[in-house]
Amino acid sequence: TLKGKTAVITGSNSGIGLGVARELAKAGADVVLNSFTDGDEDHALAEEIGKEFGVKARYVKADMSKGAECRALIEQAGVCDILVNNAGIQHVAPIDEFPIEKWDAIIAINMNSAFHTTAAALPMMRKAGWGRVINIASAHGLTASPFKSAYVSAKHGVVGMTKVVALETAKEAITANAICPGYVHTPLVDAQIPDTAKKYGMSEQEAIEKVILERQPSKQFATVEQIGGTAVFLCSEAAAQITGTTISVDGGWTAL
Ligand code: NAD
Repeated sequence: TLKGKTAVITGSNSGIGLGVARELAKAGADVVLNSFTDGDEDHALAEEIGKEFGVKARYVKADMSKGAECRALIEQAGVCDILVNNAGIQHVAPIDEFPIEKWDAIIAINMNSAFHTTAAALPMMRKAGWGRVINIASAHGLTASPFKSAYVSAKHGVVGMTKVVALETAKEAITANAICPGYVHTPLVDAQIPDTAKKYGMSEQEAIEKVILERQPSKQFATVEQIGGTAVFLCSEAAAQITGTTISVDGGWTAL
């Protein structure tokens, strides 16, 4: 059980981040949710999780594209035993046409934010004598696809940073690992299914298997619960010697 531990999950008002926050809360951790908005619905999400799992849960607004706000998120959390760097965005374009501002935003949100939050959280973990850094990378942290230069660069960068953090904390009760999901069933992916089916003149099931999950041999999406469960495992005693590595949750993508 993670009772008494506090987890900060960046970009957690939807998708994988929210799923990870829910699984950590289910395991007993207090959670700090985050995104760059500050709506009533953001705070309501935290309240719901707190009630459902009987843990302390709150929402802290911070824009992960800005280094100072990344650090402020951790400072506002006050304590950070488990840091989940999850916030991320995507843009798809050939490299010679890739908009500079999109490149900068992806590198900032998907990679630099993990540097800032980790730098702010490590002293807290050291003080507590225990810590877990869990970076949500991607199959694209290990392999590449065309037209995703910024995303693939950022995710490879995160995998590299994970190894450095692991080495710098190797003698302490702190681990750093990256989870590398393939395609995960999130609202965003869900929304693409009807359009993809229409575009290719296929049934939705065919569009999923032949187009969206082309590179995922299982032909099934991973679920946010499975990503969350992997994070909970990395927080367990069984995972205490797992550090500086990646865990793929990709239905066989990186085995191809
Ligand atoms: P999502 O769009 O549902 O979630 C992204 C989260 O990041 C949201 O909560 C969003 O509010 C937040 N966010 C975006 N910009 C932010 C900013 N500037 N500051 C703070 N928060 C910000 O997408 P998702 O699929 O849940 O993705 C979560 C992570 O998982 C990303 O890092 C993504 O690269 C990674 N990932 C997703 C998949 C997939 O198939 N869905 C696969 C591999 C990796």
